[in-house]
Amino acid sequence: MINTISFSTKRKFEVVDLTADVERIVKKRDVKEGLCVVHAPHATMAIILNENESGLLSDYVDVVKKLFSGDWLHDRIDNNAHAHLASAVIGSTRVLPIHNGELVRGTWQNILAIELDGPRQHRNIVVKIIKEK
Ligand code: ZN
Repeated sequence: MINTISFSTKRKFEVVDLTADVERIVKKRDVKEGLCVVHAPHATMAIILNENESGLLSDYVDVVKKLFSGDWLHDRIDNNAHAHLASAVIGSTRVLPIHNGELVRGTWQNILAIELDGPRQHRNIVVKIIKEK
């Protein structure tokens, strides 16, 4: 079984907080011990575990712009090399433990998807719950 969180993005760069949706899925599945895989099946998105604070939300975008702007070969094709490179380096999958039926995450660790090449109509984040035997 697989769960999908679907949304569209409105800007080129955007941070979407998935924490409440992922926690809802974990509760619904009623798994006491296991793993929760959060995966963006997109080459131009990234997933991070960090704080949802308004300053940081803009800082995440600024760091991506600073670190990944450049004269990239892929820009000859569709002008979004920065998005592919940021997704490749940051990563598009995160795994969180489930313990006593709850996601194990720090107080300041929200599950954040970063849109790197928006706006996009169909962004789907896959959530896979693996139950410990
Ligand atoms: Zn591309």
